[in-house]
Amino acid sequence: MANESAGAAPTESQRYLSTRGGDYDLSFETVVLKGLAADGGLFLPHEIPIAADWQSWKDLSYKELAFEIFSLYISSSEIPSEDLKEIIDRSYSTFREEEVTPLVHLQDDNLYLLELFHGPSYSFKDCALQFLGNLFEYFLVRKNHGKEGKDRHHLTVVGATSGDTGSAAIYGLRGKKDVSVVILHPKGRISPIQEAQMTTCTDSNVHNLAVTGTFDDCQDIVKTLFGDADTNQTLKLGAVNSINASRVLAQIVFYWYSYFSLVRKSSSFKLGDKVRFVTPTGNFGNILAGYYATKMGLPADKLVVATNENDILHRFWTTGRYEKNGVQDAKSNGNVTADACKETYSPAMDILVSSNFERLMWFLAKEYAATLGMNDQFNKKQAGQEVLAWYKSLKTTGGFGPVHKDILENGRLTFESDRVSDVETLETIKSCYQKNKYVLDPHSAVGVTAAQRSLARTGPQTHHISLSTAHPAKFSDVVQSALKNEAGFNFEEQVLPDEFKALSQKETRVATVENSWEKVREIVKSYVEEDLKAESSA
Ligand SMILES: *Cc1c(COP(=O)(O)O)cnc(C)c1O
Repeated sequence: MANESAGAAPTESQRYLSTRGGDYDLSFETVVLKGLAADGGLFLPHEIPIAADWQSWKDLSYKELAFEIFSLYISSSEIPSEDLKEIIDRSYSTFREEEVTPLVHLQDDNLYLLELFHGPSYSFKDCALQFLGNLFEYFLVRKNHGKEGKDRHHLTVVGATSGDTGSAAIYGLRGKKDVSVVILHPKGRISPIQEAQMTTCTDSNVHNLAVTGTFDDCQDIVKTLFGDADTNQTLKLGAVNSINASRVLAQIVFYWYSYFSLVRKSSSFKLGDKVRFVTPTGNFGNILAGYYATKMGLPADKLVVATNENDILHRFWTTGRYEKNGVQDAKSNGNVTADACKETYSPAMDILVSSNFERLMWFLAKEYAATLGMNDQFNKKQAGQEVLAWYKSLKTTGGFGPVHKDILENGRLTFESDRVSDVETLETIKSCYQKNKYVLDPHSAVGVTAAQRSLARTGPQTHHISLSTAHPAKFSDVVQSALKNEAGFNFEEQVLPDEFKALSQKETRVATVENSWEKVREIVKSYVEEDLKAESSA
């Protein structure tokens, strides 16, 4: 607790619980540093705050708006307002656009694109990870005040990446005090630009490991390390994957900000009108932030979940069943078949299950319990038990559901979904370029495809904001193959930022390691030792 400030006592939306019922009444600092709850659940605020006077936010800058929103979820007794403002300022000053997340009008009809890729790694993940990196540092510096050597609290962030998360995490954590970051990527299997983004980061606390294996192998190694008693005894491991509660929080801001941008940009859209958001979705972290925003009071007609061919979420909204594999393999005698995640043109959305979906299920289970007329305490407990049972089933049988039809219907009041194939993704990159001379990355193209279908359902008068989650230069192969026959198209001149051109000239730092968690563990330990030495001599 901050000793320099005696802020007001935390509200219900500033205390946190676990989706599986094991933890209750935790501080924001605890849930940020822990990442995952001890019972395997994810952290949520006890309740989502209602923003009663949200209309007064309409002319705020991105940073001012972030301050208003974060203050509802973080008690000033934990982070004094002046400190929070300073953290926000540092987190969003690294963006290349003054507006942080500008809104562009894509077509004559009411389709707008929210560009979320103007941060240091050119992915929407920067919106959350720039903030998370500064939060980690803030909490650690405070914990370590007046401490030296072994007494200092040191956080080791270990993560696996197929590209986007790793580069955004590295840009969020480079040079941060009392933090080591080790990112595993599958050697030779990520895009050259993403590899260069990570390996050219030569800050001493950043360590890249190229694992001779697949992305799944990398993820398995990280999971094993988190479960390994020896590792946990010697290192304090932290996670930056999308389960961290602060990441969802940070993402709420751009839903609100784009709504106000739309009011400023469109003469036919007034404050209070409803908009549709379309979000290219993988782990459900981004669109979950949209859900929080609507619960706070943001006028949204629907949130459209856009998936690629890894469509567990689309299948859920269609059937009420949440299952790893859409079809069971007849040869497996009814057993769940080997997990199969498809490789698509939008790799950051290639998932088998969506980790943040658990948070939505908790809210839906709680709202269902509330219809039975019991008190809030009971409803929360009930929701925790329901989620625990669902996720036990997911683990043992590869799925759960169908969920109660009232739960599904309640969810459908907010959500719609759509599935977009690789072929359709390419087609949209092409048609969008032909119509608007705008180059979409494949993830954003999944969103725009779903947005166009949604427009066809609602009619062109409904305003749509489709989220653009990555810069097209990060996925040059797909973009170039979609646009290779377009007259006058030149990738180097029209798409590639100068900053990317310079990457190939820079010094790199990366170590290759065998696909073995024990080997990785020993390397991680030696890196952390080096980092601790460097810090104590600094
Ligand atoms: C991570 C990512 C997504 C998916 O976001 P979720 O929060 O996991 O749903 C989509 N597009 C890009 C480019 C990403 O990096």
